[in-house]
Amino acid sequence: MTLVEKLIDLLIDRRSLTASDVIRELKLDPKMRKDVLNAFEKAGRVLKKKGFRLLVAYPECRKCGFVLKNIGASKCPKCKSEWISEAVFMVE
Ligand SMILES: [Zn+2]
Repeated sequence: MTLVEKLIDLLIDRRSLTASDVIRELKLDPKMRKDVLNAFEKAGRVLKKKGFRLLVAYPECRKCGFVLKNIGASKCPKCKSEWISEAVFMVE
């Protein structure tokens, strides 16, 4: 089973996930965060064909409230804070 396939099963089961949840649930190396984010994008296309929709709640700066459009962002472009919430992926 590929990472994308595992991710799709997990998403359909849990309905909402962050990259950290996936790393923990699938016992992945935390260094694979970028691969997980790419897998979410691929999973979105596969889910669409299955009749689901993958929604993304973008990361938000917890200091100034700025919403970051980059799902892998780790730093706020506005206030430079690194206190950023994780992107949440939801399936419906
Ligand atoms: Zn900020």
